[in-house]
Amino acid sequence: MSSAIGIERICMEFGEPGQGVRALDDVSLDIRANEFFTLLGPSGCGKTTLLRLIAGFEQPSAGTIRLYGEAMQDLPPFRRPVNTVFQSYALFPHMSVAQNIAFGLEMRGLPRAEIDATVQRMLALVKLPDVGRRRADQLSGGQQQRIALARALANQPKVLLLDESLSALDQKLRKDMQMELKRLQHETGITFIFVTHDQEEALTMSDRIAVMDKGRVLQVGTPSEIYESPVNRTVAAFIGETNFLAADAADAGLRLGDGQVLQAPTPLRGAVTLAIRPERVHLDPAGELEGVVEDVVYVGTDTVYHLNVAGQGGFRVRRQNHDGAVAAHAPGERLRLRVPTAAIRVLAE
Ligand code: ATP
Repeated sequence: MSSAIGIERICMEFGEPGQGVRALDDVSLDIRANEFFTLLGPSGCGKTTLLRLIAGFEQPSAGTIRLYGEAMQDLPPFRRPVNTVFQSYALFPHMSVAQNIAFGLEMRGLPRAEIDATVQRMLALVKLPDVGRRRADQLSGGQQQRIALARALANQPKVLLLDESLSALDQKLRKDMQMELKRLQHETGITFIFVTHDQEEALTMSDRIAVMDKGRVLQVGTPSEIYESPVNRTVAAFIGETNFLAADAADAGLRLGDGQVLQAPTPLRGAVTLAIRPERVHLDPAGELEGVVEDVVYVGTDTVYHLNVAGQGGFRVRRQNHDGAVAAHAPGERLRLRVPTAAIRVLAE
């Protein structure tokens, strides 16, 4: 796949050089054509700033952004082959839906018949073929979101930037729109760059994800690479649930604080942190690890056991309620746990 967006060593500092806020710190990314690419990270990590730089609303302090091989620094936003959908939708409330979608096309001076045909095509694409005459402010939040997408797609951008676009929607609508966005990306073949702080949303929708923290990119990978093989503790903690255990790695294995030993998946030595996903641990009387039950929480599809392991509380084991049955274990009870060696990630930090 060819490169759609090349981000090369971008730094962004707001305020006085050397004293301001460093929103982005040496960020490099290669986003491929036709990719659904997500920037994921906690609030303030620099996601929106990176989108605004790609769109051309800001100029970087250092570094280069290329779109389809062309350096962008001298191009104003409206000359870039990019469109943005904001969280607030930013529709013109008193205009009709059709006028909203037509706006950018009229600015470009396209013939009326072509504009009308495009508006109808876009309404069909977002599955709202009959709302063209309605006023934008008479639509529901979910409908407004679709119209904002239709308006952004009408100009046939090569790249669509979506900034927390689903966060104003309720949970059910949000799940529907996640699928809808994936479908639109597939059907149009446009490169989507999606910004979110919601890891589940990122895992559900993306071809690849860049995990960001404090202005830096920590890891880039497919959802399964990021989930199964986080490069460090910050990524592991941010994506899904993770148990962390301190251990001492030596020839004999991974020795926990209370002397219990787990088999090491990799030959490492010294103080390490073990990252273990709750759903990879089994309750098994023949298991190598022991824990004391602190709490048992039934959450519908699963039951989550909170245990104290090696003197450390809050170790979670998540088991699916296949048969609707919940194993009866009471607080204070000792349980044995089986942790497959492949389920242990050994983190050096
Ligand atoms: P959120 O998820 O909360 O929107 P974000 O990851 O998108 O966060 P940014 O909005 O990119 O983060 O902000 C990154 C950092 O840069 C923050 O510390 C923010 O306060 C700072 N920042 C952003 N814009 C400006 C600005 N115009 N002037 C000064 N500081 C700014």
